[in-house]
Amino acid sequence: MATELTHYIGGKHVKGGSGRFADVFNPATGDVSGQVPLANEDEVNAVIENSQAAFHAWAATPVPKRAAIMFSMREVMTQKKDKLAEAISQEHGKTFEDALGEIQRGIDVVEFACGIPHLIKGELSPNVGGDIDTYSIREALGVVGGITPFNFPVMVPCWMGVMAVACGNAFINKPSERDPSAALILAEFWTEAGLPDGIWNVLNGDKVAVDGLLTHLNVPAISFVGSTKIGEYVYQTGNAHNKRVQSFCGAKNHMIVMPDANMDQAVDALMGAGYGSAGERCMAISVAVPVGEGTADELVKRLKPRVQGLKIGPYNDPEADMGPVITGEAKDRIEGFITQGTKEGADLVVDGRGVSLQGYEEGFFLGGSLFDRVTPEMEIYKQEIFGPVLSVARARDFDQAVTMVNDHEYGNGVAIFTQDGDAARAFSSKVDVGMIGVNVPIPVPMAFHHFGGSKRSKFGDSQMHGPQSVHFFTKMKTVSARWPSGIKDGAQFTMPTNR
Ligand code: NAD
Repeated sequence: MATELTHYIGGKHVKGGSGRFADVFNPATGDVSGQVPLANEDEVNAVIENSQAAFHAWAATPVPKRAAIMFSMREVMTQKKDKLAEAISQEHGKTFEDALGEIQRGIDVVEFACGIPHLIKGELSPNVGGDIDTYSIREALGVVGGITPFNFPVMVPCWMGVMAVACGNAFINKPSERDPSAALILAEFWTEAGLPDGIWNVLNGDKVAVDGLLTHLNVPAISFVGSTKIGEYVYQTGNAHNKRVQSFCGAKNHMIVMPDANMDQAVDALMGAGYGSAGERCMAISVAVPVGEGTADELVKRLKPRVQGLKIGPYNDPEADMGPVITGEAKDRIEGFITQGTKEGADLVVDGRGVSLQGYEEGFFLGGSLFDRVTPEMEIYKQEIFGPVLSVARARDFDQAVTMVNDHEYGNGVAIFTQDGDAARAFSSKVDVGMIGVNVPIPVPMAFHHFGGSKRSKFGDSQMHGPQSVHFFTKMKTVSARWPSGIKDGAQFTMPTNR
């Protein structure tokens, strides 16, 4: 029996009123587990009004009190993380341990936001001239929208929303319609942590909800995470409506394996980063680039049995390395890429199609796939497959490996495995990629650093979390003040200077 899901507005669950719903699946069984309401324009306007009404009091709340709520949210999330992980795994399909890992990365942002009194501090220059003091302060923007993808239903709303509300804004999360339940639970947690009603609302929906946020006069900023096609649209539409927009998008992350790399470490790294979460991570490694034929032969020889041995299972199987992919449609699309790769002439070393799990025959499971001799002209190289498919694209030498990375349309993450500091240093400076790992396969920065890609993996010039997020979610005001105790300047008609 499918549960009817809700929106979360003003501190409570609110039933959808549009009459439009989308199916939410349990990807392990293929069953429809829920029906998520898809907001209409009136509902979009109503949630923005609710957030707007709550905003001013929250923005005026002393910053230590806002920080105190961040501290309580940390406790609520930590104590109730299993409930959240269960909701993630049931609708996303990732393993329970992986869901807990995602939640921890969300808690990391809450911990960073506990320092908001320090992060949001202004600047003051006394006596810049004629007894004038100048100070700059950062103020909240208002109601900000956060449009989030299916693959991290808790971590990504935390990346953006936690910093938005810590800065004094009201946040509206528009989660993915494929796994919206965790976002609703996260909103309940905020209420429990003492966040005033209306400061963290959840509006469920599709393009109608997104367009409503993107075009509304009272939404000055939008943070988006998702595919490049939609992210570019969000960026351009938001800009055309005079909004501040940051948009974090698709990826094709390479891992260079140099001839001197520690092969055991490189193979372990590729297994976890290529197949963890069924390859549905924006920082997954989807292309291994061994340098030299000898390195390539050795790598493929070692990867093959490991990929064949991957354990696939439902989220609550503690033995499972990875779960199903998100939908039947995603499974068909990934299988289509595998077929295309064989037609394009790549060597399919391990074929993950056609997996059937006893008791879960209708689930959206795929085994791990491994391609060798993939070249940059192939579609399986150019496109983000977003599934458990790793391509090996052989490079002649270091320079060719760097060229492959730089010629790719995406530039989210990249890694190099080597024991040569010189090569690693040259690599880090030559590649046009936002996040670089040296013997680290998934270099997702901690919350106190910045997350963000390059090229068509990101639109907009600001990064996610870290101190820059305070800039994104606030506007600066600069005051020049003088207290004229008996000073008589007379009228001054020339440009004031301090000389
Ligand atoms: P998606 O682009 O399909 O959806 C993202 C959001 O956009 C969802 O909330 C969805 O409802 C909304 N949306 C979908 N179609 C829309 C339309 N036509 N108009 C307006 N809004 C629309 O992405 P996804 O499949 O949920 O997530 C996977 C993608 O996200 C991958 O490309 C992955 O690389 C990317 N991603 C990037 C990062 C990053 O930080 N760079 C992080 C996570 C995921």
